[in-house]
Amino acid sequence: MSTDNNHLYDDLLRACIHKEFELYYQPQVTLADRMVVGVEVLVRWHHPTLGLLYPDAFIPFAEETGLITQLTETIIKMAFAQRALWESQFTQLHFSINISSQDVLSLFLPNLIEELCEQNGMQPSFLTFELTETAVMQELTSSLEVLNRLKMKGFHLSIDDFGTGYSSLAKLYDAPFDELKIDRRFTKDLLANHQAQTIVDICVMLAKALDMTLVAEGIEDEQTFEYLQRYPEIIGQGYWIAKPLSREQFEQWFDSWKRG
Ligand code: C2E
Ligand code: CA
Ligand code: CA
Repeated sequence: MSTDNNHLYDDLLRACIHKEFELYYQPQVTLADRMVVGVEVLVRWHHPTLGLLYPDAFIPFAEETGLITQLTETIIKMAFAQRALWESQFTQLHFSINISSQDVLSLFLPNLIEELCEQNGMQPSFLTFELTETAVMQELTSSLEVLNRLKMKGFHLSIDDFGTGYSSLAKLYDAPFDELKIDRRFTKDLLANHQAQTIVDICVMLAKALDMTLVAEGIEDEQTFEYLQRYPEIIGQGYWIAKPLSREQFEQWFDSWKRG
């Protein structure tokens, strides 16, 4: 590791201990009736000298150096604490948390998450863990045990960035996922590109056949939102609904969205 990377390693380790992160929450709504059903938790790091850092600046590094396990644990703890604070205000709010392929190699993870859930008085059914399609397919054999345990404990599992990896139908059938998230690449092109429309059609059919929830991310304008309303079962997420929001911003946004 270079000296710079040594610094980053130490910084990230310290950040995990001192919880220098701030979680942002991007709303997810039903397309049929615009009900707010959940949020995706997205991490930001307030670095003491570098300022605000987005996940792309440190998640890949954390994955390369193995610090991701500690980082994920910190994020889960912070997210659960916020979910518990919001319990009385947003009773049914689902939390979707991103995890990495290395996280699902740890046989301790399901028990740890379950314990944290109990400590915060939360029901597992309000929690979804998102793994990218690429991560799922690379490590499926070794991660299947952890994924199955999470599923058995009542947590939901989602395949993120769906359509960008190389899932085989057989693997999809074997894996205990209950949600597909169509990658924003397809959502973005929906209005202009017939192939993107066909891909969304296929995802809708696949999700229905496999009894999975379908989320479309990356909805950036009203026309795309309206186009997608032809599939009332889809849950939508994207800048047009709301950007990732801080805790305070989410509370304000929730009231204004409800007022329409
Ligand atoms: P992702 O899981 O695909 O998360 C969605 C990313 O798309 C977020 O970027 C979000 O800000 C952005 N986004 C949301 N709506 C729109 C839209 O309408 N248009 C466009 N162009 N972009 C949109 P962000 O927060 O920078 O996160 C980037 C990636 O970092 C995430 O991609 C995820 O893979 C990873 N990540 C974020 N938080 C965590 C975390 O807590 N743990 C782990 N392991 N990874 C995380
Ligand atoms: Ca995600
Ligand atoms: Ca995604």
